[in-house]
Amino acid sequence: MRLRNVKGSRETIAANDYVVHNETGMKGHWHELFDNDNPIHIEIGMGKGQFIMELARRNPDINYIGIEKYSSVLVRALEKRELEPEMTNLYFIRMDAEYITDVFDTNEVDRIYLNFSDPWPKDRHAKRRLTSTHFLGLYDQLLAPEGRVIFKTDNRGLFDFSLEQVPEAGWILENYTYDLHNSEYNEGNIMTEYETKFSAMGTPINRLVAYREKK
Ligand code: SAM
Repeated sequence: MRLRNVKGSRETIAANDYVVHNETGMKGHWHELFDNDNPIHIEIGMGKGQFIMELARRNPDINYIGIEKYSSVLVRALEKRELEPEMTNLYFIRMDAEYITDVFDTNEVDRIYLNFSDPWPKDRHAKRRLTSTHFLGLYDQLLAPEGRVIFKTDNRGLFDFSLEQVPEAGWILENYTYDLHNSEYNEGNIMTEYETKFSAMGTPINRLVAYREKK
C-alpha cells in the first residue's frame, strides 16, 4: 500500500474513543469493553475499514476489532466509524500484528480475517507474511478451538505460499478457491477496498479458510 503521511493522524488517533489505547492491558478482558459475551472477530491489516464496518453493521451480535499498523491509514477508518456512533460492536487498535499475543489471551478470539495482506515478495521476508507459519503460530495462541482464519488476496504467489504454510503449521484447510467471486463461497461476501479495486481490473480473488485439529 502506498502510504501518504496524513498530518495530525497520530494526534487524532490518540484522542479517539473508538481506538483502544491500552491494548495490552485489555488482554483477557475484551468482553468487558463490549459489555457482553458475544464472539470476538478481528481483522488484521484492515486498511481503511470498509470490510469490518460492513461486517459490524450486518452482525450486531458479534464484536469486532480492527487492527492496523499505520496511523495515516487508521484515521481513514475512524472518519467512517465516527459517522455511525450508534454502532457499539466495533473498536480499533493501532499496532503491528507481530505483538498480537500481548493483546489477546488464549481462546479470546473466535475468528481472524486477513484481507489483501502485504505480500513481502522477498524470500528473506517470508516470516513477515501474515499467513506464514510464524504468524499461524501466534494465532494458535489466541484463537478459540473452533476458530477460523479467513484469508483473501489477489496475489497468487502469496496465496500458493499460504496454501503450503497452513499444513506446515499443523493447521487444516477447510476450503479454498482461486476465484471467489465465481465460486460457491461468494454468497454473503463483503468486498474490501482492495478487493473492489482488483476485481474491477479483472483479477480473480483467492480465498482460504483454515482451522486447527481439536487438541
Ligand atoms: N485489508 C484492506 C483491504 O483489503 O482493502 C487493506 C489491504 S493493504 C494491502 C494491507 C494493510 O495491512 C495495510 O493497511 C497495512 O498497513 C496493514 N498491515 C500490514 N502488515 C501489518 C501488520 N503486521 N500489522 C498490522 N497491520 C498491518
